Amino acid sequence: MYSEDEWIRHGDELRRPFSVPDGFSSSEHVVIVGGGLSGLTIAYRLASKRPDLQVTVVESKSTFGGVIDTWKEGEWVCDVAVNATRSHPSVWRLIEDLDLGKEFSQSNPLARKRWIYIDGKQHQLSWKTAFKIGLIRLRRSMLDARKGSRSVAEVLPNEQIADAMTLGIVNDVAANVDADFLFPSLTKFGGNPPIKWSKLKKKIRKTYPLFTPKKGSVASLSGGMKTLIDKLVSILEAMSNVSLKNDFHASSPEDVASQYNVSQSSVIWTVPSGPEDAFTSLSVYAIGYRNEDVSHIPTGYGTLIPDSNIPISGILHESDVHSSQRAPEGNRMFRLMIPASRWNGDSMEILDSARNLISPHEPVMFQHIGDRNIPSYSPGYMASLSKEKYAYVRAGWGFSGVSITHVISEAERLADLI
Ligand SMILES: Cc1cc2nc3c(=O)[nH]c(=O)nc-3n(C[C@H](O)[C@H](O)[C@H](O)COP(=O)(O)OP(=O)(O)OC[C@H]3O[C@@H](n4cnc5c(N)ncnc54)[C@H](O)[C@@H]3O)c2cc1C
Repeated sequence: MYSEDEWIRHGDELRRPFSVPDGFSSSEHVVIVGGGLSGLTIAYRLASKRPDLQVTVVESKSTFGGVIDTWKEGEWVCDVAVNATRSHPSVWRLIEDLDLGKEFSQSNPLARKRWIYIDGKQHQLSWKTAFKIGLIRLRRSMLDARKGSRSVAEVLPNEQIADAMTLGIVNDVAANVDADFLFPSLTKFGGNPPIKWSKLKKKIRKTYPLFTPKKGSVASLSGGMKTLIDKLVSILEAMSNVSLKNDFHASSPEDVASQYNVSQSSVIWTVPSGPEDAFTSLSVYAIGYRNEDVSHIPTGYGTLIPDSNIPISGILHESDVHSSQRAPEGNRMFRLMIPASRWNGDSMEILDSARNLISPHEPVMFQHIGDRNIPSYSPGYMASLSKEKYAYVRAGWGFSGVSITHVISEAERLADLI
């Protein structure tokens, strides 16, 4: 059971499994495997709290950041992975502590609308969507979901809406995704807060540093999410108790523990591990048009496309969403998400699809900006995690939470223990 104060600091993130072995708190040297946002934030939180603690981060690649990167070409700026964060005080606290407040702002309030593309038509997602699903069916399936280990398809009894949502978050169809993982607050996974959720929310809102986010808004960094990684790396490099190592491929927590002569309970494994089928793949493209060629597209957040015959599963209106400019004057940019399961690898197929979905006009910019593997979280995943006991700390998005709010809050919770 967590205290009211812990719920105020972390909110629903407390519903997620938190895997810390006995012995972690008495570590003198902690070795973090993986230099993505999780590993870097954990290193920053632990090393700043305890200057006497030795912290080593080992990363298999020659650069840090993991899946996070921001592509830039001239005035075009597009994130490859996360582009904005939903509200959570842990994220705001990190941004403030890193002195990035001036570069962090709320997304454009005019770009909140989201759409779903079904049977050749765009439908706006709103509270009316619940009516489309059927209120009684929806309530029944949500109550049933509290029994645990259901798929998102079972919880949201409208295949297209459910698929659109899960594809947009974890690049997989709803039947393959654990509802406890995606919506732990809805399925009531884990314990409940000691006070009513409405009261708790009010208390949480008072704790945001910098600015209190408006309901339903997201926030982003003016230069893209890579700014956060660059800042973390530069601060960690300057800390005398931190050592950052690139090109170090760790084969297991046991090996890392013996190589660094620490106990396994002092190893923090942030690497998304698992067999190959525990991941799906996604390609990301940026596409830009002259304003006049896309003036028929309303300002908004983006469109989800559940139809598996269309290679694009999501169109994000990158130059509408952020308060900073992401495209040269007179142009608009969109980010296209392409699940590997939905296309043959030919860019022309994507351009054809963009012609139908966005504009028949030629884009002024069309660029493949990256490929990513996304961990899979099949039904029953969260329930199985809470039964496991590990000799080392497990953390990061490959373990118990897909969003950066989870990864950042988890780092604070680990620092609370040390
Ligand atoms: C396309 C996409 C869109 C996203 N959109 C959002 C969004 O809108 N909102 C949101 O909140 N989140 C979003 N996310 C998720 C977010 O990016 C992740 O939660 C976060 O970046 C995960 O960080 P991590 O450090 O846990 O994992 P990773 O970034 O995967 O870092 C793991 C690190 O471990 C390293 N590594 C792997 N194997 C080894 C080894 N054997 N030894 C040493 N190092 C190793 C890797 O190279 C990597 O650097 C998105 C992700 C993707 C891919």
